[in-house]
This record gives sequence, C-alpha cells and structure tokens, in this order.
Amino acid sequence: MTENSIFPGPVNDTIVALATPPGLSAIGMIRLSGPAAISMAGGIFGPAELELQPSHTLHYGTLRDGLRIVDEVVVGIYKAPHSYTGEPIAEISGHGSPYILEQILQLCLRQGARLAEPGEFTRRAFLNGKLDLAQAEAVADLIASRSAAAQRSALHNLRGGFSRKLEALRAQLIQFAALIELELDFSEEDVEFADRSRLYALVDSAIGEVQQLIDSFRLGNVVKQGVSVAIVGPPNAGKSTLLNALLNEERAIVSETAGTTRDTIEESLNINGVLFRLIDTAGIREHTTDTIEQIGMGKSLEKMRSADLVLYLFDVTGATPQWMDERRSALEKENIRYLLIGNKTDLPGGAEAAGKLAGAGKTLLISAKAQENIRQLKDALYKAVTGGEIQPEDTILTNTRHLAALREALASLTAVREGLDAHISADLLTPDIRRCLHFLGEITGVVTHENVLDYIFSQFCIGK
Ligand code: GDP
Repeated sequence: MTENSIFPGPVNDTIVALATPPGLSAIGMIRLSGPAAISMAGGIFGPAELELQPSHTLHYGTLRDGLRIVDEVVVGIYKAPHSYTGEPIAEISGHGSPYILEQILQLCLRQGARLAEPGEFTRRAFLNGKLDLAQAEAVADLIASRSAAAQRSALHNLRGGFSRKLEALRAQLIQFAALIELELDFSEEDVEFADRSRLYALVDSAIGEVQQLIDSFRLGNVVKQGVSVAIVGPPNAGKSTLLNALLNEERAIVSETAGTTRDTIEESLNINGVLFRLIDTAGIREHTTDTIEQIGMGKSLEKMRSADLVLYLFDVTGATPQWMDERRSALEKENIRYLLIGNKTDLPGGAEAAGKLAGAGKTLLISAKAQENIRQLKDALYKAVTGGEIQPEDTILTNTRHLAALREALASLTAVREGLDAHISADLLTPDIRRCLHFLGEITGVVTHENVLDYIFSQFCIGK
C-alpha cells in the first residue's frame, strides 16, 4: 500500500458553484473560492471596488454583464487565510430565481472561474489545513442530518471532538513507542529497561478506547440512519391502533375484523431526537408448520429479522404465561431484539389479566386505545437502542470508513499486547505500533490517498 501525505499545495484556479439548493427561493448564493475569487466578483460588481475592501465585509450593489444590470446583490468577501477554504472567497447573494442565478454563474465562468466539483470547497479547506478529514466528513453528515441526535453528533465531530480523541490516542501510542526506544537503547546491556507494566497500561487503555469507539458504531448507525421498528403480533392485538397512538394521528386503517391491515405501513417517529421508523406488518394468522411459524410468527419473520427492534404486541386478556414464554424463546432463538407489549389493559378483566402476567417476565403493559402508558413505551424504545441518555460530549462513531480503520488499529494493538505477553523484544513491537498509528492517521487524514479523498468528497453536493 503506497501512501502519500497530502500537503497543502498551491491551487491556482478559482472555483464557482451555487451554494443554495437549485429551484425558486427568496435568495440564492453563488460562491467563488480561489486566488482570483474577489477580483472576479469585483470585475462584474459595482459600485464598491471589492479588491480594496477589508476582509469579512458585505457590499450592496449591482452585478453587470457589460452595461446590462443582471441583479441587485450583496457580496461578502473573505480574505485568505480567514475563510472556509483558507483561500479568498466571494459570496454573491442574489435573488433566488434559477434564471438569474444561472446568469450570475455564467458571468463568473466568463471571468475565468471553473465550475466546482462536488465537495471541492471542503476538499480545499482540508488541503489548506482548515479542518481534518474526520471534520470534513462531519460537514457532510451535518448537511444530511435529519434528527437532533444526528445533528448533535455531526456537530460534535465537526468541532473536533472525535479528532481530539484520536489525537490523545496517538499521543499515548507515541509515548509507548518512546518507552520502547528507551528499552532498545539499553538492550546491548541486556536489560529489559522499560517498565513493562507501564507498557501494558498504555496498550490496555488504548485498546479500551478503540474498542469503545468501535462499540459506539451500533448507536452511531442508529443516530445516523434511524431505528427500524417492526410492530408485530397476532391479528387484532391492536398493532394499527398502537401505531396511531404512537404517531398520535389516524394513519393506519383500524378494523374490527381480524387481519385487515392491508399493506405494510411505514411512519417516522422522533423520540428525544432519535428517529424511529415504525413498520406495521400485515396481520399474522396462526397456522403453518415449523416452531416459530406454528405459533403464528412466521409471516413476519423476515420483517422481524430485518428490523433493528421488534415490538411484539398481544392482547393481555387472551394471553397466558405459557403463551408468552413460547414467544419469548422463539424471538430469542432468532436473536431478535424485542420488547413484549401487553395491550388492552383497559378491557374488563384487563387489569386482572395483566396482574397475572406481571410475574411472567418483563412485559410492558399498555392500552393503545385509551393511550395509557404510551409515554413509557416511547421511553422504553429510546432506552432499548441508546442504553440510556446520549450526552452531547459523547463521541459516537457514525462512519464506516472510520470503523474499518479503527478495526485495523485494534488488530495492531492486540498484536502489540500479545507481543508483550510473549516477551518478544521491543524492536519487534514497533512495526505494530506504527501500523496502528497509520490507521488512526487515516481517519483524520494525516495519512491519506488521493482515491480516498476522491471518494469522500464525491459524496458531497456541489457547492459545499
Ligand atoms: P391489528 O390487527 O393488530 O392491527 O389490530 P387493530 O389495531 O386493528 O385493532 C383491533 C381491534 O382492537 C380494534 O377494534 C381496536 O379498536 C381494538 N383495540 C386496539 N387496542 C385496544 C386497546 O388498547 N383497548 C381496547 N379496548 N381495544 C383495543
């Protein structure tokens, strides 16, 4: 594997792109970045002479194509290195008509600017050392965030939370390498100089931190993609009613006849900033052969397997502890994460039935129709996927590229630890330490490859 360190090199062309979404809007912004950004904007703008103005100022005036006025605009200018990309930037805010914005874009191109590639502004910011790779990726995540939790996590990473954690890890490993060097210096005198317990402590703490980050990926995925929840249970258990109660709206079709939920319905629900995608499966009938199928769960098995979490709903008035145990062990055998929910506690005899079931293992009791315990159910859902509260300062891994690099780093650290156990000589530990540093460096972009950069920035929209 060849590797190039990327150093900020001279970038001498000036790029331009629409920074706001295409289509009609109140205001549309076109951004120029590069050595000639401000002079190009100045070439079509008046009355102020933009090149003579201080950085971080706004200027109101007109854009002209020769003598013809194209639009009234406000231009913001940022001088290098105090801008998003680290280069001179001009931001032209015009009226948000696609026709006008296209003309402004054409004017900039005629001034000598080039259309930006996807993510090229952020790529330049990375190359100019304005942000590291993990932060650049957080920019894309922030733009794509659809829930408060996703936004929090992306913002935390953008502000360098993840990068600082990795930096601390690198520092630990460098300390480890230094201790080993010390041992090497004395090896001719045949002493094992470095205090091996310190080496163990360092490598164990690094393993712990990397492992914790890897473990956080499950939660990270949840935060980024949302959680798919399948609402499953026998016909008439109240699945559609529960879906409505959770959504607080009459969405699914509720009917008195068993098995009349016709289509699978998917709706989103936001609980404490985490997005849940609720799937109401079509009614399951109690028939067919094999274990899980025999107890009527076969039809939705696929749905249950593909969901992150299953809400298994049943009517408390008809359930026995044995019936519940059967379902529990079937779900567990399939390794399905589930919450067992007893419904219809409001029915005559409901409270009594619920009382009998209470002893038979953990079940949440609700009335979907009377909207009782729905808040508790929401809390249980949130807790089941987050394991408690997500703190704003928690670093949560959300990126598969980072996950892959951390797994490699962990493998190297494990090799170091095994090396220590086997009392192999210190110089043989160094290659693994170096490998580990390499993989940590890949995440922030200390070590990187052109094609990785191409891949990452191609995921961005044009104009970012
Ligand atoms: P599904 O087949 O599992 O989707 O069940 P539905 O949501 O269509 O409900 C079946 C019937 O049970 C309907 O008549 C609902 O009004 C009724 N039902 C659902 N939840 C409750 C509840 O908590 N209490 C009572 N009393 N009836 C309920």
